Amino acid sequence: MEKETEWITGQIRLSIDGTPLEMEMTVPARPVKPQRMLPIFQQMADSFVQIGIDAVQSTGRKISCAKGCAACCRQPVPLAEIEAYRIAEIVAELPEPRRAAIKSRFDEACRRLYAIGWFEKLDRCAHLPAGEREKVVLEYFAENVPCPFLEDGACSIYADRPLACREYLVTSPAANCSAPSRETVRLIELRIRSAATLRSLGDSRNLNAVVNFLPLVLALKWTEVHPDDFPEKTGEQWMADFFRKLTKNPIPAAKNNPPKS
Ligand code: SF4
Repeated sequence: MEKETEWITGQIRLSIDGTPLEMEMTVPARPVKPQRMLPIFQQMADSFVQIGIDAVQSTGRKISCAKGCAACCRQPVPLAEIEAYRIAEIVAELPEPRRAAIKSRFDEACRRLYAIGWFEKLDRCAHLPAGEREKVVLEYFAENVPCPFLEDGACSIYADRPLACREYLVTSPAANCSAPSRETVRLIELRIRSAATLRSLGDSRNLNAVVNFLPLVLALKWTEVHPDDFPEKTGEQWMADFFRKLTKNPIPAAKNNPPKS
């Protein structure tokens, strides 16, 4: 089916704090599941992050993140549901014995977090004030549970890593990320956080309304018990949905390309 997919290319023009950004995007012309749009959303997220990096560097500050640090790969990585299904696909496509090894890391991470009741605490976060929610995140950090994809201090799915991982860049000392707090970790400022927008895409009915994310370590278990019931839409429609949620404004149909009936 994928081979039959046709593609359509268009230009997106944005102005972010006065900085013009023009992107050429090639998207599926036929209706697809939102997972097929992830490479496009990743490309957009990278462009938005680069604007944040440029802004930091223009003031003489430096990004502290570097290969081999990976302190942030021991925290609860917030996934959009769409990303959880893609993570499950990535694991399912791995050859053996690698697939079994990665699955066993997911199992071990979940076992440790279940043992301290962390997932129950996450569920209760919806009823807690923001400060208390932060404590739940810190408990995860304290357990020192590595992401199942972390290998030799580097991400083994770097090209496919979630949007939240792409957006997590700091200017504070890298060492501070091992015991993060609002006071000691300075994330770079991003005018557009694609990860949060992606979490609201796909008309999710399953997630906790306040926390609204899936921790990466739950991706395999979650997708096993929640079959994918996303609608199929054209790439153009998914892009319009994304920017509608991002801007909270209606998005006009693309010129010379009216919506298909
Ligand atoms: S997906 Fe990659 S970058 Fe993200 S937490 Fe896991 S190892 Fe780190």
